[in-house]
Parts: sequence; structure tokens; C-alpha cells
Amino acid sequence: MFEIFDEKIEIVDAPNAKELNEFSKDIVYKNVVFSYEQDKTILKNVSLDIKKGQTVAFVGPSGSGKSTIANLILRFYDVNSGEILVDGTNIKNIQIKSLRDKIGTVSQDVFLFNNTIKYNISYGKLDATDEEIEAAAKAANAHKFISNLPEGYNTLIGERGMKLSGGEKQRIAIARAMLKNPPILVLDEATSALDSESEKLVQEAIENLMKNRTVILIAHRLATVRNADKIVVIDRGTIAETGTHTELLAKNGVYAKLCNMQ
Ligand code: ADP
Repeated sequence: MFEIFDEKIEIVDAPNAKELNEFSKDIVYKNVVFSYEQDKTILKNVSLDIKKGQTVAFVGPSGSGKSTIANLILRFYDVNSGEILVDGTNIKNIQIKSLRDKIGTVSQDVFLFNNTIKYNISYGKLDATDEEIEAAAKAANAHKFISNLPEGYNTLIGERGMKLSGGEKQRIAIARAMLKNPPILVLDEATSALDSESEKLVQEAIENLMKNRTVILIAHRLATVRNADKIVVIDRGTIAETGTHTELLAKNGVYAKLCNMQ
């Protein structure tokens, strides 16, 4: 335990890092090369741009690097070479907190604290009022099931509290992101099967959350990427193709093949 506590934090603010006040233009990946471990390159020369307001979906086989590309924007790791720019500034020169404040994430494994529903949602904005929390829960299709719990928003959940279903947990995570209200959203689509009623509620909640945001979508099912402004097909750490659904079908390449398979 102490060894872990003593680990040096490698990702820190550069001396002259500037604050990102607002996200206003674009996210650009320029010749990004990245590896988690030495000698095992995961991303090989990835270049792409995401304009403000766009939904960009990453598709491709499992292990191809979709989540890695998407998550690098949060700067939990630094790239080996190349750069990632937000509004023209390399993220290494942006204050980390101000960068992460602009990004919301909803991933497959939802982390719930052993605390009340209210706390778990407000983790997205610790000074939120009860009204704001309820509004976020409503937009996330979670208000109804929360109201039916024994103590409503004050019900304890998590390991030692009420057990929630997979779909309910996801809607809590969506409410949390809704409350944080970030301009950029990294969305890792769930792979685990939900029953169809629950899936419909989650899907609707996600659509609400995506409105008026720049969305980086890690897609596992092709059905959800059709409407993306840009689809990026990743294959073994490189970009194989980019385009809209229609453009890529017409190309009759990797994406068209994936579509036929599914
Ligand atoms: P995808 O999202 O397309 O399934 P990932 O980006 O999760 O792919 O993974 C790409 C590759 O990086 C895989 O080979 C995976 O095993 C490896 N990888 C992912 N996360 C880590 C990590 N934290 N440490 C080491 N290797 C990792």
C-alpha cells in the first residue's frame, strides 16, 4: 500500500500551463504514437480532428485501440510522440483540472460510492442543489425508479447499500454527467446486455445527454453509430477509414464488411 502511495505522479501541470476557460473550436490528434508499456506500440500515427458539436464514433475490433484514443484526451497518460490539441493548445500545456472539468465520461463499469443516491449523482458537481440533482435524474430517466426506492434520493447504494440493476447504475452515471454538464463527452457504450425495457431507458437518457455536446463515442454496436457526424474505423492502432455511414458503405471497405457481419 505504501509503495503505491509513494509512486511518483508522472502527469502534472507544466510550469506555464494555461487554464482552458471554454471549449470553443476543436480537438485535434496529430501523428499520435502511444504505448502503455515499452516496446508495445498501441497507437501508430493517429491523426484526426473533432469539431465542436460533432459526434465522432470509433468502431473496430476489440483491442484495436478505440478506448485508448478516446481516453488520451483526459490525459491520464501522455503520448510518446505527436500531440493532442484542444482549441489549438497542446493538452500538455493546459492545466489538468481545467481540461478534465470540460470532459464528462460515461463508461461501461459505473463506479458507485457506498453512499446515498443523491451523493452519487452530485459527485458530478458537489455544490449542486436538490433541484439540480432531481432535474439531472429526470433527464437521465432515473427519477422514477429513485422515487420508488424506500428513501428516495437518500437511499444508500453501493456495496453495502441497495443493489441496483445494470441499467439503473448506468442511469445514475448519466445523471452524474448531466449534472456536471461538460461540453465534451467521452461515451463508452455498454456491451453488457440489458433487458429491452432498460436498454430503451438508457438509450433515451444517453440521447438527452449527447444534446449540444461534442461527443467521442466508443461504439461496440454499429447500430448506434449510423447518425454520427464522423465514423473512424480503427484497426490495430491505426485509422483504417473515416467518413459518414453512407460514405463508408459506398467505399465497400472495412466498415462495410463490419456492417455485413453484424
Ligand atoms: P478497444 O477499445 O478497441 O477494445 P483498447 O484501447 O482498450 O482497445 O486497447 C488497445 C490495446 O491496449 C489492447 O491490446 C489492450 O490490451 C491494451 N491496453 C489497454 N489498456 C491498457 C493498460 N492500462 N495497460 C496496458 N495495456 C493496455
